[in-house]
Amino acid sequence: MSDPPPAIVPASFAAAASKIHLLEGSSLHKVRIDADSLQGKGQQTNLEYLLMLDVDSLAYSFRNNSGLPTKGVPYGGWEAPDQELRGHFVGHYLSATAKMWASTHNEELKRRMDHLVDILDECQQKIGTGYLSAFPLNLFTRFETYRPVWAPYYTIHKIMAGLLDQYTEAGNMKALRMVIWMAQYFSKRVENYIEKYSIQAHFQALNEETGGMNDVLYDLYKITGDPQHLKLAHLFDKPCFLGPLALQQDTLSGFHANTHIPILIGAQKRYELTGDQVSKELVTFFMDAVNSSHRFVTGGTSDNEFWKDPNRMASSLGKDVEESCSSYNMLKIARNLFRWTKDASYMDYYERLILNGVLTIQRGEPGVMIYMLPMGPGMAKTSSTMGWGDPFDSFWCCYGTGIESFSKFGDSIYFEDYGVRDENPGAQRPIPALYVAQFVPSTLEWDSAGLILKQTVKPLTSFDPVMEVTIHLHENPKATIEETSPYHKLINTLYVRIPSWVASGYEAYFNDEPQDITPGSFLAIQREWKAGDKLTFKFPAEVRLEHIQDDREEHQSLNGIMFGPFVLAGLSHGEFDLGPVDTSSPSDWITPVNPSDNDLLYTFRMGDYQLGHKHRTVTLDSASTNGTDWDFEATFKVISSSSPSLAASKHSGLVGRVVSLELLDQPGRIIAHSGINKNLVVVDTSQFADSTNYLSQANLGFKVVPGLASDRLVSFESQDLPGCYIYVDDWRVPAQLKCRSKENDGFDAKASFKASQGLRSYHPLSFVATSQGLRNFLLFPQLAYRDEHYAIYFDMV
Ligand SMILES: [Zn+2]
Repeated sequence: MSDPPPAIVPASFAAAASKIHLLEGSSLHKVRIDADSLQGKGQQTNLEYLLMLDVDSLAYSFRNNSGLPTKGVPYGGWEAPDQELRGHFVGHYLSATAKMWASTHNEELKRRMDHLVDILDECQQKIGTGYLSAFPLNLFTRFETYRPVWAPYYTIHKIMAGLLDQYTEAGNMKALRMVIWMAQYFSKRVENYIEKYSIQAHFQALNEETGGMNDVLYDLYKITGDPQHLKLAHLFDKPCFLGPLALQQDTLSGFHANTHIPILIGAQKRYELTGDQVSKELVTFFMDAVNSSHRFVTGGTSDNEFWKDPNRMASSLGKDVEESCSSYNMLKIARNLFRWTKDASYMDYYERLILNGVLTIQRGEPGVMIYMLPMGPGMAKTSSTMGWGDPFDSFWCCYGTGIESFSKFGDSIYFEDYGVRDENPGAQRPIPALYVAQFVPSTLEWDSAGLILKQTVKPLTSFDPVMEVTIHLHENPKATIEETSPYHKLINTLYVRIPSWVASGYEAYFNDEPQDITPGSFLAIQREWKAGDKLTFKFPAEVRLEHIQDDREEHQSLNGIMFGPFVLAGLSHGEFDLGPVDTSSPSDWITPVNPSDNDLLYTFRMGDYQLGHKHRTVTLDSASTNGTDWDFEATFKVISSSSPSLAASKHSGLVGRVVSLELLDQPGRIIAHSGINKNLVVVDTSQFADSTNYLSQANLGFKVVPGLASDRLVSFESQDLPGCYIYVDDWRVPAQLKCRSKENDGFDAKASFKASQGLRSYHPLSFVATSQGLRNFLLFPQLAYRDEHYAIYFDMV
């Protein structure tokens, strides 16, 4: 097969118009998110990662496969030269850089992505058939003859989608010509195959993962209007998967989630471009099925990459659970459904999944992400089989979708509707509309109103549980709208989502006039908008429980805990039992942490080590990396009954007090002595009737005295055994109560600690869940966990 590249590009294209009326997301070029927001920080970390990657290393296997001399060194992981999936991440890199460039206009990124397209163009020209890949064609021969192979069409989809994004976001015509040439090659290949074997044989081959081949080909058809592209797209709609969904049957169990969600995204495009109602209905049914029966409290789906039986989610609480790629693709499904229906519930879902399924996968440093989010009690993100990835040696599928997700937070905040224009003389022009669908501090160039829209958000905290959103309209000095838009100075309708999670007491104002709003819908205001107009919202949040999607009686007591759109997870090494709490009023026993309690948090150091607890033993150890369990375990909340309050006098105020040391990660558990030369123990204060009275119990409170080794240090003396102190002989051995003696030369140094600020402080969204007779849990948002162990579902019997 040898075909010349398409000679001309789009001048002659008759773009395929959508057959239905739908919303369009505002262009990433028009949206800027604030740098200090959660999304802004995630975007910046991802930008740094994209700039760490070397174009020659990314292109290594492409050059090698096309017979061009290689440059640089190849990357490892799934991009290594011996991996059959090599090249997939390069496709994602093309998509991610296109979207990141649109979101930031970082010129260095632009230079690199243009350079990569140039290199890939050379590779495609050298091969000369339209084929472009980092692996040879024999992988397709194996695919077509049902022999084991690792998803060659999956990778081709990523490359085609990446090139298409380079065209749509950055206007790269060369990239468009390349993807058209690829489509030409694969059209021939598939047609020849069907002619030689049969259509059934082709569909049988689709049992191997093919990514979103239909999706990218529908997108291409939308641009080119070429029926060949539409036909090839149809040939990747997978009938054996889509058929039962069209019959409204939840047959998801046993299917590989991330193989099939992209096929459904393709089905969404099929509906948009052809008006095919069956495609519309089956995807709507699919979303309802996932949302009602296959979804975790985080919004994510899939267990070890697969769907299991509906309403059996308690069987999926293991270490390799929610795949990040599935979250990335479910967001696309929800986004398209919203574009069709304007139903706020799809944007509620989107918000939940961005906050709890996407922002959670990035550890915080560039290029460190997870593959699958563990959901079981006592898991950490590091507990998954893959753990945290390496910037240059992982390149898993979820790295590919990860770099895309963190490049397009500006997407789906705003949607625009220009209406269906009736060209008949005298027909009224449609009223354009803008939808504010997500609450992310950001600005938008609102072209149809010729204004800049600025959204500010005062985030939720546990102690001040009201999210305040302000939408301010400003002049747009650059607005050239009069020449370019037929809508300028017309009335616009502004819609703002009122989240379904808002608690009672919500308020909305337009220029100080109160507005009626209903949670789970949109506020709509139609007028000629002017600079200076302002909308303000107060969205109160409350803690609420969400039952696990499992209908078996033995799992009826399992619940996740949410606060507004955030999933709260509890610090835990495996415990998840809260006992017989009152599930009808969770705010009675899930209470906010007062931010001033941060002043009560201390770490006690001895040289390079810190005093902390492990498995109910008190010991010395040293923190390795920020974000570990030890940060919590080596931080104590100091409880003291005497005044003035410790918070007011912090460091100077410790000496002379009787204090108890509460474990930061296990509220209600304190350190106690159990006698001379015996190990310190951890006891539950819930056993004491008067929770403030235990300080006076001889073994539970310690008297803080000037350090035995130095006045700049402190020592903890027993109340009932004067002359005996908290003493640690060496690191990683249990701390004891020991009495000072002349025989023990080093005693003073081993009983003296430097009191310093806690290694860890409370997250602004911290709560304490108080159990019924069991241990309490410190809760903070799942997205804020790094390496700490957690529980997401709790047993509330
Ligand atoms: Zn993945």
